[in-house]
Amino acid sequence: MVFNSKKISKSRLETFFADAQFFKTGELSKLEEFELTDFDLCVVAGGDGTLRSVVQYLMENHIKIPIGIIPVGTGNILARNLGIPMDIKSASKIALAGNYREIDLGKAKVGSEPAMFFTGISGLGLDASIMENTHPKLKKRIGWVAYIEGGIRSLPPKFEKFEVTVDNNESKTLKVLTLLVANTGTLPGKFSLLPDAEVDDGDLDVAAIGPRKIWNWIDVLGRILWQNRFVRPLVVGRKLMDATSNLKSLEYLSGKKITVVSERESNFQLDGDLMPPAKKVTFQVMPKALLVAC
Ligand SMILES: [Mg+2]
Repeated sequence: MVFNSKKISKSRLETFFADAQFFKTGELSKLEEFELTDFDLCVVAGGDGTLRSVVQYLMENHIKIPIGIIPVGTGNILARNLGIPMDIKSASKIALAGNYREIDLGKAKVGSEPAMFFTGISGLGLDASIMENTHPKLKKRIGWVAYIEGGIRSLPPKFEKFEVTVDNNESKTLKVLTLLVANTGTLPGKFSLLPDAEVDDGDLDVAAIGPRKIWNWIDVLGRILWQNRFVRPLVVGRKLMDATSNLKSLEYLSGKKITVVSERESNFQLDGDLMPPAKKVTFQVMPKALLVAC
């Protein structure tokens, strides 16, 4: 069991996983002392970032072991896409039930840096700026709604030019707010950003997002915010509409290898974690590389 101690306590988890060995997210190197393949299951209790770091560790060390997810993070994108419940008790039952699904993984390469893996969504542009601008404290308090607050502070939206090459096709130049490369399609709140994205179809999906889609996105999240009485969504929406009224909407692409070259260094995130800004990123799908209890 690898758990994020900022999100959940060990004692809480012990109720459901009495026989487990426990490791905090910062202690992944301790796993080296164990023959992980002797274990039946590696349970991750945390958010998308915790899951990403565990997957990174397993992939780097060529360890194949089923993964269970206790989603206690902000976005919980993979868990939501797989239908894993958000409450700890039900998620624990599913983790231990022994039903596994093989799913794809995303791999991102920047220059000669080691490969980075992601299970959900990676983004360049505004999306990554949102992650950069999201207050960790606020994220803890109001969950994924905090991303929108980050979005507001990323305004006015800056358009970026990306040259995108999918597999062996001709490259396309897209001028957009944000470019998402995704293994999963659903954002928190069950809002489907990439309706065709499937976690096990052997393809990564790309959404190049212009204003109309962003408007929908803000609109949907705005309604939730309205309920939270946190910000006035109409103000945000109007600001975005004004800033983006002359631009084209969105474009969907999908393939096994996606190369993105940005005009200038662009903010870059993997599963919600901000990476160093990048100019060129090569994404590849790793078909059915992960076995997940769900
Ligand atoms: Mg896919």
